[in-house]
Amino acid sequence: MPWKCLLMKLEFQEYRTRKIVSVHKHVDGPWFWGKYTAHPYVGCRSGCEFCYLRGSRYLGRRDPNTFDTLIQVKINAVELLKRELPALEHEVISVGDWQQPAEDRYQISRQMLEMVKVHGFPLFIVERSPLLTRDLDLLTDINQQTWVGVLFSMSSLDPALKRTFEPHSPGVKRRLQAMEKLANTGILVGTSIVPIFPFVGDDKKQLEELIRATRGHGGSCVLAGGLTMDGLQAERTLAAARRLDPALVNRWREFYNWKVNGKPQYGPPRAYNARLGLLVRELCEKHGLLDRMPRYTSPGPLSINKRIAEKLFLKTYDLELEQATNQRIWAYRKAAWTVDELPESIDEIFKARGQAGLQELPGIGVRLAALITHWLQEEKAQEI
Ligand code: SF4
Repeated sequence: MPWKCLLMKLEFQEYRTRKIVSVHKHVDGPWFWGKYTAHPYVGCRSGCEFCYLRGSRYLGRRDPNTFDTLIQVKINAVELLKRELPALEHEVISVGDWQQPAEDRYQISRQMLEMVKVHGFPLFIVERSPLLTRDLDLLTDINQQTWVGVLFSMSSLDPALKRTFEPHSPGVKRRLQAMEKLANTGILVGTSIVPIFPFVGDDKKQLEELIRATRGHGGSCVLAGGLTMDGLQAERTLAAARRLDPALVNRWREFYNWKVNGKPQYGPPRAYNARLGLLVRELCEKHGLLDRMPRYTSPGPLSINKRIAEKLFLKTYDLELEQATNQRIWAYRKAAWTVDELPESIDEIFKARGQAGLQELPGIGVRLAALITHWLQEEKAQEI
């Protein structure tokens, strides 16, 4: 049954979906470490101009311009989650969408948390909404049972950037206050500085302010990523940039190699990303934060695989910052997938067949086998 609020130009459209959990082929290391995602709404009232979800793949056949005015509600999300979770391995599930006013009306995100708690899954959330604190009781319970990690998304503390690119999202100060509340209960929190706006939001002073604020509100890590450009989202982002500063339009066009009537390059140039990543790393070190989110691993015989895979994933990020060849980065990524998805303990393989046994694994050659051997020996030394 559709529901319309004419005052806010907002419409809810309820529907039943066939599946709620998306199971990804690989965990998204070294970013959020999630294996599953589950989202109860399609469309978002915050309507951030840069939101990659404006892309047509996510919205299906819907008019992408209705992204922030028509919220499709998966009314059977909780029932499906209840049915789907018992069949899944206990890996991190990423949920989200604490969006008002949809959540005020339906409370599906809260009910999904209850289900995550009942089935004992670790949980990751990346959010712009402080409404998350409404569910502090459940988040605390899940964190005590397994693990909860929350990153609040913020591009900058600059109010002009917020007004321009996120006209309807909750205020940045409120997000920081929410971060502090969660941190006070022992939940791992931090900031996802995504997207960082080239030329207007990427200088050292701005980034340091945000990193300092994260630290000041109990955060322990920061993840940074540049602005991407794709289809309608790119057009809207550029239109917003024009409102901020008309001169920015040509600078961004050039930066994204965006020819007239052509498509822009999807992301910023590689050298720029590397410079930005190194700057964020330097600032994080200065303020005692991590520039990656630590991975949660469930206890058990395969937890060693997850820890070794984490190191391999982290290495891919280091190599990106070094601007290593894609071939080298892919070698580490594939090795990380191999180890992460092994059905038997890598430690047992090593004990039984030594380094030669590791080299028999797909994508693991002499150098990577030697590195993994070193890490396994380090783990052993730490146990003593
Ligand atoms: S709050 Fe998140 S999901 Fe909503 S529009 Fe903004 S970036 Fe997209």
